[in-house]
Amino acid sequence: MTIRLTNPALLRESAYINGEWVQARSGNRLSITNPANGEHLASVPDMDAEDTRQAIRAAEAAWPEWRARPAKERAGVLRRWFDLVMQHQEDLASLMTAEQGKPLAEARGEVAYGASFIEWFAEEAKRAYGDVIPGHGRDKRIVVIKQPIGVVAAITPWNFPVAMITRKVAPALAAGCPVVVKPAEDTPLCALALAALAEDAGVPPGILNIVTCSKDRAPQVGEEMTTSPVVRKVSFTGSTPVGKLLMRQASGTVKKVSLELGGNAPFIVFDDADLDAAVAGLMASKYRNTGQTCVCANRIYVQSGVYDEFVDKLKTAVGKLVVGPGLEGETHQGPLINQAALDKVRRHIADATERGAKVVMGGQAHALGGTFFEPTILTDVTQDMLVASEETFGPVAPLFRFETEEQAITMANDSEFGLAAYFYSNDIRRIWHVAEALETGMIGINDGIISTEAAPFGGVKESGLGREGSRYGLDEFMELKYLCLGGM
Ligand code: ADP
Repeated sequence: MTIRLTNPALLRESAYINGEWVQARSGNRLSITNPANGEHLASVPDMDAEDTRQAIRAAEAAWPEWRARPAKERAGVLRRWFDLVMQHQEDLASLMTAEQGKPLAEARGEVAYGASFIEWFAEEAKRAYGDVIPGHGRDKRIVVIKQPIGVVAAITPWNFPVAMITRKVAPALAAGCPVVVKPAEDTPLCALALAALAEDAGVPPGILNIVTCSKDRAPQVGEEMTTSPVVRKVSFTGSTPVGKLLMRQASGTVKKVSLELGGNAPFIVFDDADLDAAVAGLMASKYRNTGQTCVCANRIYVQSGVYDEFVDKLKTAVGKLVVGPGLEGETHQGPLINQAALDKVRRHIADATERGAKVVMGGQAHALGGTFFEPTILTDVTQDMLVASEETFGPVAPLFRFETEEQAITMANDSEFGLAAYFYSNDIRRIWHVAEALETGMIGINDGIISTEAAPFGGVKESGLGREGSRYGLDEFMELKYLCLGGM
């Protein structure tokens, strides 16, 4: 075991159901490895549908007591959880870098970002206000209250092993709901560490459950979660095909569904932009987490007049990136999560170059071997290439050229996805016009980093349903109930 932790109790090799650290009924286990060197780190239970059913039952049984608590009391528990997560920021970051690969500095940042959702919803728990509406008759009064929706099932990805969990669990708990989480098979250690801290913070047995499983068993665990009549809400972050499958499965019992799916973010640089700021924004948006975030810039549209100058400035910035294992020294870019991720990056570059794009930087697997890849820049990219239609999820910046504002908008909207978009301009008319015209749920305007617990995160079109974070994020876990008082 190569993860050094100040508090070794944060490394858990059991799942967490009904306040107990348990194994799979089958006894099956799943090995967790470090993507930077392939080393075995730990193993966790490989659970199945029956284990999942037990977790759902535990959540159902624990729900009445939790929902009955005053919001202030639930808020107190969440606040303690937030404090514990921040106290253990360093250990959580080490676990994350070990199982996920991102540089330690980024992992620390994610722990703080993940914790911010717990803090935010601890505060927001107390503000689940209802409404009083003028009655529709002389003797009638209308009152609207908000109530917790019920048992929540959450399925999360590997690219943000802490934040994608807290962004769902914190609002659910704040609203008064119990949760069963299925973390990604690559990164369950962060999820289990979060549960250990939640237990210490006083989250009662059954209110937070973590069901770990392998990629092979994910379909049966997911099916149990989406078809159980007990589960009232499914919250998923991951790929679009899996999101569609879960939505179909959830339709049988008409569950409320939140989906945060793939993106294909356009990043537009207009002639009037501050090019240095645009390069800095692109570096943050494109190469963070080795390009493995759903809001990473995927298609970079640069207006003709500044195209060559932008390429030069970008080359200088990319040339400074240090690639290496996240736990060793100051690095900017870790390995890709697995071989399949590396193969996709290669496929996208090969397709682009066959169709006429030029590699002006990188383009190859990195000399470090494994799943390390060189930060890459492609120029002369066109809309018929795979990089235009698919999310690369890797460190490749494809630069398209455009002439007019309308052309940039048309190209940017030419996608079934609609999560994030970015553009750089200093013209106020253009800023309003383009912001209104882009078909995405979020837009960074002269900014490459948009994620914060205070703003609603989510997409349109096939990028998803619902919003996470902010005051809107709480509503995803509540139902409105309208009370009509007659004979008043
Ligand atoms: P990625 O390709 O980024 O791994 P996925 O959508 O496959 O994205 O994975 C996101 C999450 O969805 C992971 O926790 C994964 O285990 C889970 N998952 C994958 N397939 C299914 C499925 N059929 N049912 C339920 N969950 C699934």
